[in-house]
Amino acid sequence: MHGTVPTPAKVAPVQPVFYEFTTPAHWRGVDFISDLHLSSEMPRTRDALMTHLEHTPADAVVLLGDLFEVWIGDDSADLGFEAECSEMLAECASRRQILVMVGNRDFLLGTEWLAMVGAQGLPDPTLLVAWDQRVLLTHGDALCLSDEPYQAFRREVRSPRWQQQFLSRPLYERRALAREMRNASQERQRFDGDLVHTDVDIAESVRWMHLHGAMEMVHGHTHRPGSDSLAPGYRRHVLSDWDLDQGDRAEVLRLTRDGFSRHAPASA
Ligand code: MN
Repeated sequence: MHGTVPTPAKVAPVQPVFYEFTTPAHWRGVDFISDLHLSSEMPRTRDALMTHLEHTPADAVVLLGDLFEVWIGDDSADLGFEAECSEMLAECASRRQILVMVGNRDFLLGTEWLAMVGAQGLPDPTLLVAWDQRVLLTHGDALCLSDEPYQAFRREVRSPRWQQQFLSRPLYERRALAREMRNASQERQRFDGDLVHTDVDIAESVRWMHLHGAMEMVHGHTHRPGSDSLAPGYRRHVLSDWDLDQGDRAEVLRLTRDGFSRHAPASA
């Protein structure tokens, strides 16, 4: 890979891996947040997240992908904005459980970073079992099957071979490549899967839920918050993206014994 866009190819649907996370019975709530796309240009968004992590009544917070706008390797967390965020998250994670699934932007967040922060990684997808409710969790990009060029790109960059090669480059080269990839994405508007009109494939989503015995699904990625029915009995909840620097968007989806509800981030 040299920052080039892979040739579009027909991609077979991803086979979901069965991974289960069961919440302890005494927990009262779990929060879901995604798509903060944190970068040094988003200090207010970052601060709102940290305030929420500190003050939420939930026992755990699941960050469901695209916490960072870009992540070029865990060794980048020693410097600047990434280091600051990681330290703040570590502080929060020492008081409340933080679970992290990677998204299409920060898919290189690795085990070293998780260990440093004290967060638990969740594979995509993960089946959450909480208070007798079975909920399928996914970032969402793997289900956007209509965007075939993106699925080909995804298959490439999620391969161990690509990641090994990328991570073996010096940081300055990785930064340049990431910039190049971002520029390509702005030109093509499809390279990174952030197509505004793309939605998850309904049949594939229902198949995943059915395979996991889940009647509900939570995903982010599409930046179109809302809850709807994908098929009779199969409900999905889409998370809001967060932007409190250029915009005015931030929302938390909370699961309790009584089901799902949406909230503004907790304040100090
Ligand atoms: Mn995304």
